[in-house]
Amino acid sequence: MVYDCLIVGAGWAGCVLAERLANGLGQKVLLVERSNHIGGNAHDFVDAHGLVVQKYGPHIFHTRLRPVWDYVSRFTDWNGYVHRVLAQVADRVVCLPINLDTLERLYGRPFTAEQARAFYAERRVPIERIENARDVVVSQIGQELYELFYENYTKKLWGLYPHDLAPQVTRRVPIRFDRDTRYFDDPCQGVPKDGFTPMFERMIASPDITVRLGTDYRSVATSERFGRLIYTGPIDEYFDYTYGRLPYRSLAFRFETLDVERFQDAAVVNYPGEQDYIRITEFKHLTLQKHPKTTICYEYGAAEGRPCYPVPTEANRRLCERYKAGADELERVHFVGRLAQYEYLNMDQVVERALALYEEIRTDG
Ligand code: FAD
Ligand code: UDP
Repeated sequence: MVYDCLIVGAGWAGCVLAERLANGLGQKVLLVERSNHIGGNAHDFVDAHGLVVQKYGPHIFHTRLRPVWDYVSRFTDWNGYVHRVLAQVADRVVCLPINLDTLERLYGRPFTAEQARAFYAERRVPIERIENARDVVVSQIGQELYELFYENYTKKLWGLYPHDLAPQVTRRVPIRFDRDTRYFDDPCQGVPKDGFTPMFERMIASPDITVRLGTDYRSVATSERFGRLIYTGPIDEYFDYTYGRLPYRSLAFRFETLDVERFQDAAVVNYPGEQDYIRITEFKHLTLQKHPKTTICYEYGAAEGRPCYPVPTEANRRLCERYKAGADELERVHFVGRLAQYEYLNMDQVVERALALYEEIRTDG
């Protein structure tokens, strides 16, 4: 069999492209996935207790990109969940992102938006050129809140302090001057009504898509014939680490099922303090599942394991440029997704990139 396209990786990037090439262009696609499941980092499943859980930590789809939302909504209905996060700081549980309620709970007095601005004006550290993820925070809210919310959490998650990471890392979390308790302010957000994995299954259901799980790209690269390659794995691995390894941060997860209906007041509670875990997720909040038990997940930063995050530092960006230059020289080989583009992309951004690549293939042939 000659395939029009070999796609490496059945996460968001791989599934969207398989769907588009098969259903949009009638192409024959071979989709290979190294692990034993589809969905990549967004994979979910029903655990031994009948509870839907997300294997690699909490995933909420959120976007302001209407075409992306409309595209994904062809494969799923949404459960209407709006993501909210709490943080355990000092001895209080407070709202994150930091808003007026957060300040009131921490400092035990009322705050208007003007009072919050004045409060920060006294504390913020003037920084002319924002150069790292610490600068972003201390230049807005000062050292004390930086230490309470960001310093340890970031060290635990990334193995690096914020001053060693790019500004984009902490810019992801806004500082609010209202009482909006949502984690994301994107107008479209939610979790697929019957889960991410069933959504991916519908996406790649075409008979023109052959899926092989537990299959590494290397084992088919020379034995299968294909006209084009779309690669969504780590870019340095594709090039056999010629220029050295690009670090990818990993995570470790510890699941527990408890004999209670509810464990905590939000889907995610962050722990920026001394605990060794960074956050606890209780999936029932996200999935809206009714069940007498509940499964929770402790999450830890890890140096080794499945690659989860590209690590945004200047040195890594420069190293990645070398790999990207190599990628640009290849014909009919495309690199797309969080690992292949070595960018800290949310799911909607990965879908956007995948749809853009599809358009490129469709128009250029
Ligand atoms: P991946 O999901 O990593 O898929 C790549 C696939 O390629 C993997 O399945 C891998 O096994 C496979 N692969 C790699 N190499 C090979 C090979 N040689 N042969 C075969 N297969 C291979 N985004 C959001 O928008 N909202 C969230 O709430 C959110 N929460 C997150 C929470 C955590 C803990 C993490 C880590 C990420 C979160 N994200 C979230 C980001 C989201 O997971 C990614 O944007 C998205 O899953 C990336 O999709 P992808 O297809 O690029 O990569
Ligand atoms: N962050 C933090 N404390 C928190 C939440 C986030 O220090 O309680 C920092 C941390 O560096 C993290 C970044 O802000 O990597 C972005 O947070 P976000 O929740 O967007 O990260 P995600 O888990 O989605 O990658």
